[in-house]
Amino acid sequence: MKTLDQLSFKNKKALIRVDFNVPLDDNKKVTDTTRILAAKPTIDHILAEGGSCILMSHLGRPKGIDPELSLGLIAKTVAEILGTEVIFAKDSVGEDAQTKAANLTPGQVLLIENLRFHAEETKGDETFAKALSTLGDIYVNDAFGTAHRAHASTAIIASYFPDNKCFGSLLEQEVKAIEKVLNSDDRPVLAILGGSKVSSKITIIENILDKIDDLIIGGGMAYTFIKAQGGKIGDSICEDDYLAYTLELIEKAKEKNVNIHLPIDVQSTTDFSNETPITVRDITEIPDGSQGLDAGPASLKKFESVVMNAKTILWNGPLGVFEFSNFATGTKALGTIIAESTKKGAFSLVGGGDSVAAVKQFGFEDQVSYVSTGGGAMLESLEGKNLPGIAALLD
Ligand code: AMP
Repeated sequence: MKTLDQLSFKNKKALIRVDFNVPLDDNKKVTDTTRILAAKPTIDHILAEGGSCILMSHLGRPKGIDPELSLGLIAKTVAEILGTEVIFAKDSVGEDAQTKAANLTPGQVLLIENLRFHAEETKGDETFAKALSTLGDIYVNDAFGTAHRAHASTAIIASYFPDNKCFGSLLEQEVKAIEKVLNSDDRPVLAILGGSKVSSKITIIENILDKIDDLIIGGGMAYTFIKAQGGKIGDSICEDDYLAYTLELIEKAKEKNVNIHLPIDVQSTTDFSNETPITVRDITEIPDGSQGLDAGPASLKKFESVVMNAKTILWNGPLGVFEFSNFATGTKALGTIIAESTKKGAFSLVGGGDSVAAVKQFGFEDQVSYVSTGGGAMLESLEGKNLPGIAALLD
C-alpha cells in the first residue's frame, strides 16, 4: 500500500479524488462538513510539503450539467475549512481546468467542477479518465465513499499514474480499520449486526463468520432468527423467506465456534409509532398485534457482558427503531457500552449507514476507535469484495 509519506509532493501537482458529496440545504449551504474535514489531513500534508492540490469530486446525482449541484457552491466552505484560497474551474476537463491546473503554484488549491456533469465519469470512460489525468503529476485517492465504484476518477484514472499514485490518509485509515477488525489477533472479535433485514446482511455474515468469535444479532433482523427457532414474534418485522437460512446460519456458526447472541426481551408496542405505550416482553412471547421495536433491559445486560469481554468490535446496524426517540434506548445503550469497552482497550469500528448516524446523533463519535465515512464502500468491504478504487491503487 503506497501512502502519502512514500511520495514527495514538493513542486508537484497532486490530483486528489475526494468525496465532497456533502448535503446542502435549500439555500445551498453545506449542512454537514464531515466529508470535507475528513479530506483535510491529506490536503494539508501535500500543501505543507510544497505541493499543490487539484481536488475532484462528485456532488449528488446530476443528469448532465446542473447548477444546483455545482461544486462551486461549496468552494467557499472548502476554503474556510482549509484556511486557504480555493480556485474553482468551471468544468472538470477542458481549457479552463487545464489552464488553472497548469498555472497552479505550490501551496495553491484548485477545485474542479462536479465530475458527474460528464456521464463518462460513472461509465468509467477511459478518454475522460485520461483527460482528467493530464491535470496533475500524482494521483491520490482519498474518497472511501466511492471506492466501491469503478468510475473514471476513482479507478480507471489510476493506470495513468503507474508509479505516482497513492492512498490519501482517510482512505488509508479506512482500509486499516477494516483490516484491523477482519484480520485481528486481538480476540475475542465481536461483530454486532442490527438493522431491519437479514437479507441485506447475508453476504457480510457469510464473510465474517471465519473471522469472528462472537456475533450479536439485534434490531429487526433478530425476529427472523427467533421465529425460525419457534419463538412467537407477533407482528414484529420478519423475513419468512429467510427462516430456513437463519437456521443454517446458526449451524454454520456452531461449526465455526462462533457464539451467536440474540436478544432475550424487547420493548414492544401495538403501533409502529413513537407515541404508543411500551411493554417489555420476552422476545419469544410477543402476541399478535404487538411488535418489538427495541431491545429490552435483559438483552442489553446480556450484550453488555459480550461487548465488555471483546477486544475487537465491529458495529453495523441499530438495535431498534432509533429514529423514534422512545425506541432509541437499546441503540444508545449499546453505544455507551461500546464506548466503555473501547476505554478499556478494545478496538471498535462503527461502519455502514444507520449505526454511523446513530453514533453521531448520540454523541459517541469520539468515544469509539473509528467511525467509517463510507456506507456502501464499508458494507462491500465487510462482504469481502475487492473495491475497484482500492485495487487500482494497488496494481
Ligand atoms: P438497515 O438499513 O438494514 O441497517 O436498517 C436500519 C433500519 O432498521 C433503521 O431505520 C431502523 O429503524 C430499522 N429497525 C431496527 N430495528 C427494527 C425493528 N425492531 N423493527 C423495525 N425496524 C427496525
